[in-house]
Amino acid sequence: MTVTEAPSIALLGTGTMGLPIGRNLLAAGMPLRVWNRNADKAEPLSEQGAEVARSAGDAVSGADVVITMLYDGDSVAEVMRQAAGRFAPSATWLQLTTVGVQAAEQLAELADELGLIYVDAPVLGTKQPAEQGELVVLAAGPEDIRPTCQPIFDVIGSRTLWLDRPGEASRLKLVVNAWVFAVVEGIAESLALAEGLGLDPKLFLAAVRGGAMDAPYVQLKGNSMLAGDFAPSFGLSNADKDAQLILHAAQLAGVEIPITQAAHEYFARAVEDGLGEQDLSATFLVHRPK
Ligand code: NAP
Repeated sequence: MTVTEAPSIALLGTGTMGLPIGRNLLAAGMPLRVWNRNADKAEPLSEQGAEVARSAGDAVSGADVVITMLYDGDSVAEVMRQAAGRFAPSATWLQLTTVGVQAAEQLAELADELGLIYVDAPVLGTKQPAEQGELVVLAAGPEDIRPTCQPIFDVIGSRTLWLDRPGEASRLKLVVNAWVFAVVEGIAESLALAEGLGLDPKLFLAAVRGGAMDAPYVQLKGNSMLAGDFAPSFGLSNADKDAQLILHAAQLAGVEIPITQAAHEYFARAVEDGLGEQDLSATFLVHRPK
C-alpha cells in the first residue's frame, strides 16, 4: 500500500501499548493523528510525523479508521462519547483495548449509535511484541471491512486471527489471559517455593529449561523476577483488571476458575503493596517467603 492509498488513522491512547503501535503505523507511512489524556505521552510520536490532537474529537475528525487502546470498557466509552459528532460517516473503529465480554457488547451498541463500523480487536503480546510489530490480533467484525483492517493489523501484528461472530475476539482474549496468569503465578510460586526450601531459585529455571515443561515466557518472566526487574511490560493494575473481567465472565458462564481467582488475589495484594504500576511479574514479591 502506498502512502496515498493508506487510510487516515486516529489513535486514541498512547500508553505502554498504544505508543509502539503508533510508532509502527508511522514507520509504515500511515497518516496518523494521536490523542492521549496526558498529552506528554503522545508527544514522542510528533517527532515521527504524527499530528498530536488536543482532544479526542480533534483526533477522530475526518479519520477513516479510529483505533482505541485505552484502559477498560468505561474509559473507551467515555473517550468515544467525548468525540461524538466528530466522526467521519461510517468510519471504522478498531477497538484494541481489553474490555471483557460485557463491555465489548456495549461498545458494539455504542458504535451503532455513533454510526461507526465496529471491529472487536484485542491483541495478544506485551510491550516488546508491540514494539516489534509482532502482536497477534484477535479480530471480529464484518467480512467486508477486512480489507480495510488487514493492512493496519499487518503493521502492528505478525498474525491476525479472524473470528466469525461479534464478541468472539474479546472472549478469546480472556481465555488467553487466563492462561498467561496461570503461567505467571506458577512461575512465581515455584521460585518462591524453591527459596523457601533453601534452594537457589535459579535451579527451577535450569531444571525445566529446554524441556517440554519450559516455555519462552517461563525463562523470560522467571529471570525478570529473580533480577528484580519489574519495568512494566504488562502492568499489574491492568492485569488485575483483566483477572476480574475473566472472573466475571466465568461466573456468568458457570465455569469454576480457581487459578484465576488466586491470581486475582495475589495481583490485588501486589497492587495494595504499591506495585500497581510495576510489571505483573512483581506478583513474585507477594509470594516470596517473609
Ligand atoms: P497503560 O500503559 O496503562 O495505558 C492506558 C492508556 O489508557 C493510557 O493512554 C491512559 O491515559 C488511558 N486512560 C486510562 N483511563 C483513561 C480515561 N478514563 N480516559 C482517557 N484515557 C484513559 O496500558 P497498556 O499496557 O498500554 O494497555 C492498554 C490496554 O491494552 C489495556 O486494556 C490492557 O489490558 C491491554 N493490553 C495490554 C497489554 C500489555 O502487555 N501491556 C497486552 C495486551 C493488551 P494516560 O496516559 O493519560 O493515563
